[in-house]
Amino acid sequence: MKAFMPEITRENIRLFTYIVSAIIFFLFETVFPFKEHTESRWRHIGRNVSIAIVNGLLYGIIFGLAVQWITDWTAVNAFGLFPSLGLSWPWELALSIIILDAVIYIWHVTLHKIPLLWRFHLVHHVDSRLDFTSGFRFHVGEMFASMFFHLPLYFLLGVSFDALLVYQLLLLVFTPFAHMNMKLPGWLDTPLRFIFVTPNYHQVHHSHKPLEAHSNYSTMFSFWDRLFRTYTPRRDIENIRTGYLSFEKNMSLKKTLSLPFWKRYDQQ
Ligand SMILES: [Zn+2]
Ligand SMILES: [Zn+2]
Repeated sequence: MKAFMPEITRENIRLFTYIVSAIIFFLFETVFPFKEHTESRWRHIGRNVSIAIVNGLLYGIIFGLAVQWITDWTAVNAFGLFPSLGLSWPWELALSIIILDAVIYIWHVTLHKIPLLWRFHLVHHVDSRLDFTSGFRFHVGEMFASMFFHLPLYFLLGVSFDALLVYQLLLLVFTPFAHMNMKLPGWLDTPLRFIFVTPNYHQVHHSHKPLEAHSNYSTMFSFWDRLFRTYTPRRDIENIRTGYLSFEKNMSLKKTLSLPFWKRYDQQ
């Protein structure tokens, strides 16, 4: 029996979470689809999963090794904010998750504000229809840029490897969840969005209108947007056109990845 049940270790738990959540989201989107597809569902999934695989191979391995090295060093040397606070594990974990989520919020706003970074982040926004795989659609250039933002902060925070792992697992569930091609009923969306980013909440961030696309930046906890006044409380998401400005629908993989290098990327 054991031979058929691979052991879940720290090393493969990310892949396990990724696959299990993807299967669950895929089934939910199949049973409760929200918007009509403008291209083959499989072609859309294939394009975004290809981007995710490139990211995993080029970025995931380097980032993983860097995180391991930094968290080992800060743990051995008791360096950084968390070791100096001397919190018990549950408190350290809770505070780590809140701070790491705030860091992602700040990074996301930065991606929208700095023109060079926006060129790369636009790859996420030009997806002309959303499904859970849109949550994996980030240009590898954006991923590498994020490393230079996050790694020094991990070092200064002295965040533990296990706390980072728990937060990464939460992101592996929350990011595809927020992009699902599904509309939650109001009775479920209203209490959920008070704390967490829901598919209804994140649809607004994928509006083709710049004012709406440059709002609702939160990734997991939704309260950052309310706190920093970047929240657009729009609920009629069936009327939102997904994409950005008039960028071509269903762009090919090659064109999508070359997008940051276009001369006139913001004009059609
Ligand atoms: Zn964005
Ligand atoms: Zn998104």
